[in-house]
Amino acid sequence: MNSYDVAIIGSGPGGYVAAIRCAQLGMKTAIIEKYSTLGGTCLNVGCIPSKALLDSSHHYEDAVKHFEEHGIDIPGDIKVNLEKMIGRKQSVVDQTTGGIDFLMKKNKIDVYHGLGSFKDATHIKIAGDKAIEIEAKNTIIATGSKPSNLPFIKLDKERVITSTEALKLTEIPKHLIVIGGGVIGLELGQVYKRLGAEVTVVEYMDRIIPTMDAGLSKELNKVLKKAKFSINASHKVKAVERKGKEVIVKADNKKGEEVVFKGDYCLVSVGRRPYTDGLNTEAAGVKVTERGQIEVNEHLQTSASNIYAIGDVVKGAMLAHKAEEEGVFVAETLAGQKPHIDYNLIPGVVYTWPEVAAVGKTEEQLKEAGVEYKTGSFPMRALGRSRASMDLDGFVKILADKKTDEILGVHMIGARAADMIAEAVVAMEYRASAEDVSRMSHAHPTFTEAIKEAALAATDDRALHI
Ligand code: FAD
Ligand code: NAD
Repeated sequence: MNSYDVAIIGSGPGGYVAAIRCAQLGMKTAIIEKYSTLGGTCLNVGCIPSKALLDSSHHYEDAVKHFEEHGIDIPGDIKVNLEKMIGRKQSVVDQTTGGIDFLMKKNKIDVYHGLGSFKDATHIKIAGDKAIEIEAKNTIIATGSKPSNLPFIKLDKERVITSTEALKLTEIPKHLIVIGGGVIGLELGQVYKRLGAEVTVVEYMDRIIPTMDAGLSKELNKVLKKAKFSINASHKVKAVERKGKEVIVKADNKKGEEVVFKGDYCLVSVGRRPYTDGLNTEAAGVKVTERGQIEVNEHLQTSASNIYAIGDVVKGAMLAHKAEEEGVFVAETLAGQKPHIDYNLIPGVVYTWPEVAAVGKTEEQLKEAGVEYKTGSFPMRALGRSRASMDLDGFVKILADKKTDEILGVHMIGARAADMIAEAVVAMEYRASAEDVSRMSHAHPTFTEAIKEAALAATDDRALHI
């Protein structure tokens, strides 16, 4: 039987990064993945394919709507070749998952394909092409998550679908009904809206992206409405029915009245649930919470002292970069180091256009905690760079402590916000004040100048270009 210092179950961004870091630190490492490709949700059916389709559909929308005003004339009709678009997405996925195979080989990590399940706290059975068993001094559970559903919805995976199917449709929906105005619903809703579908979003809470700062939600709502999304907040979905090619969604609005939406596809994007099916956690003495998450302490250690858990299967944001940080954290803990993760500084991004990105506390959280704060905002449309590229929507908002000026939260919506948020993370990691950021030189003309201007506005209301 093969023996390892550490075995990792699941090869998503949590698992494969943990494996690399363990190997770098000199541990004999194995990784177990039930699917034939490595990379987990993120690389196969999550972050990477969704961004590939967002990029392709963005190009199409630019060609149809914006090329002309840039002085680019295209003779003839511009058409979408969905098969080719989905094919390109798949080749991006294949290249990326292939890259993980390479990294495993490079770091001398043994890869096992098959469902991993605990025999006891130090032995794992792997049900692959042939059943085998390995021994591991330590194990890291990184089994991720699966789409959640509402109890009354039957996902037929043809017309009533999750994100996984939405990434490989064979036709552009005429009318896509999206249940859940969170990250997946809006990103994939925007893909199909750009490609020509009518898109109706039905959201239970009183606003889309309800966990983000209300200002971001309001601005994104405005932009999506301008693009003719139908957004129905405060609607509680109560039934989804498929009749041939038609999908009928019934919901109750705020007043308790029934509202009926009819479309040809329905994307159910109401969150994801931690995934531990078949893992046989009990055999290893690993406790699972009522919500199905693996229970962990502040060291990400489970109730079995040699078993750790990371990523979507434990508490916290379900984000690839959070899973990666936790993978590194556990590897370094196993090597006797004292790593640290500041969960407050894990940024959140929605890759719609304009992009939405945030780090730190929202205004709602600061109010609730009774923290006295000041705000500085700057609209993207006041930037030369925004006018040059015609990306005028959005703003940057900085929240700083009223007395000390320390930055407590940065919330932005605009072109390239997903990349710009890194500046805010660095600033907050070093506990910068708004004035610190306002005194740093920002290249001109760039979108990042909005961060400097918002910092000036937060410092003492002295933005320069507004
Ligand atoms: P996963 O990536 O889910 O990987 C878990 C792996 O474990 C899977 O491969 C699974 O097959 C395997 N596994 C499970 N059980 C077993 C077992 N018993 N034996 C063997 N293998 C097993 N996050 C971002 O940060 N940015 C984004 O842009 C983004 N976009 C997304 C878009 C979509 C459409 C979706 C669905 C998600 C997106 N996410 C994004 C979320 C991101 O994919 C997850 O947070 C991330 O993949 C979690 O990583 P993980 O390693 O915890 O688990
Ligand atoms: P989400 O939590 O972002 O959004 C789910 C939405 O569904 C929420 O707004 C919620 O209020 C709503 N909802 C819940 N029950 C409902 C009901 N009965 N009727 C109507 N609306 C209802 O979840 P998601 O969009 O499914 O994404 C799942 C996870 O994947 C998220 O945790 C997210 O972090 C991750 N993800 C991240 C990215 C990214 O980082 N860009 C992209 C996609 C997914």
